Amino acid sequence: MQFRDLKKQYQFLAEDINYAVQQVCIESNFISGNQVTELEERLEAYVKVRHCITCGNGTDALTLALMVWGIGEGDAVFVPDFTFFASGETPAYAGATPVFVDVEEDTFNISAASLEDAIIQVKKEGKLKPRVIVAVDLFGQPADYLRIREIADKYGLFILEDGAQGFGGRIGKRRACSFGDISTTSFFPAKPLGCYGDGGAVFTNNDEWAELLRSYRIHGKGNDKYDNIRIGMNSRLDTLQAAVLQVKLKAFEEYELEAVNKVAEHYTKELENVVKTPRINENFVSSWAQYSILLKNQEERDGLQRYLKEKEIPTMVYYPKPMSRQRAFQKMDCVKTDLSVTKDLCRRVLALPMHPYMTEEDQQKVATEVKRYLSEGVVNRRWEVHI
Ligand SMILES: *Cc1c(COP(=O)(O)O)cnc(C)c1O
Repeated sequence: MQFRDLKKQYQFLAEDINYAVQQVCIESNFISGNQVTELEERLEAYVKVRHCITCGNGTDALTLALMVWGIGEGDAVFVPDFTFFASGETPAYAGATPVFVDVEEDTFNISAASLEDAIIQVKKEGKLKPRVIVAVDLFGQPADYLRIREIADKYGLFILEDGAQGFGGRIGKRRACSFGDISTTSFFPAKPLGCYGDGGAVFTNNDEWAELLRSYRIHGKGNDKYDNIRIGMNSRLDTLQAAVLQVKLKAFEEYELEAVNKVAEHYTKELENVVKTPRINENFVSSWAQYSILLKNQEERDGLQRYLKEKEIPTMVYYPKPMSRQRAFQKMDCVKTDLSVTKDLCRRVLALPMHPYMTEEDQQKVATEVKRYLSEGVVNRRWEVHI
């Protein structure tokens, strides 16, 4: 069993992907081919935003957004403590100070209450200027943008939606990557919509920012590539990756997103009475980048992971370490806030195999083994009490 079965996905899509890749080779338009512009237009229509600017990867997408807003030294950027490193790395790389904020236990996403506390604390300390909230759509579920937007407006901050894991998610009819003032995603192979290498995109409704993003991603270009009017970077999406994504986006829209939601539904139905299953807010839809359960403590989590490995069921711990405890941030003068939920989650979380091509048989095997381990755990504990 695979944790995320990209080989099986390829088997399903091979004919179309082979054709698309071959077209790029025949045309040899490897950089900035038509496929890139076509993909951007399709992504704009899907997400319902005015501008999609593809780029080299999801990390560059975040950096490009911060460049547009001129984020740098002396700026505070609020980042959830429970996320992938890039969400906090990019503000630090830009010279700003990441301020880590706790998350909600139920959704794993940034806590509005902790966010507001952190903003108030930064303002009171008076050393940093609050500028940006990086809201991450963790494991596929959009963050609570209704409340985050209220806070952003109240304190005059930008929202940068890190939708690297959130592509395809929704709140009501609105799709992920449309909630930020600028939003980003990643096409890393294992993300909900992945390509065959690195890739990413930035989304915004702001025409002026879109023009800046298009310039920054190609060496700060002006009218053409050899007219350089600002310092930028080299971060384009390859034509080959765009061609692969055109095929994958079709499958994603037509059935993959629905298929992962079916797997999640099945897991939840089987497991909700024995373990804490992920909660999706009312009116929210997840794209299930991960299906993460919460065990009672680290011992139970690690024990279950070992047990499932013996049964040839792969699992992952996303994430074993809070952002604020990463060594890379230790030398920064980071603002201290209460991050106890994240600390606890890192010890208890476990992600189960999840992808659109998972057979019902495999889903059932995972659920059965999780239940078996947890019920045997109860037996063992009783036995310990007796002796
Ligand atoms: C994967 C990921 C990124 C970075 O994307 P890359 O394409 O790997 O650079 C950023 N943020 C989050 C939350 C991610 O999961």
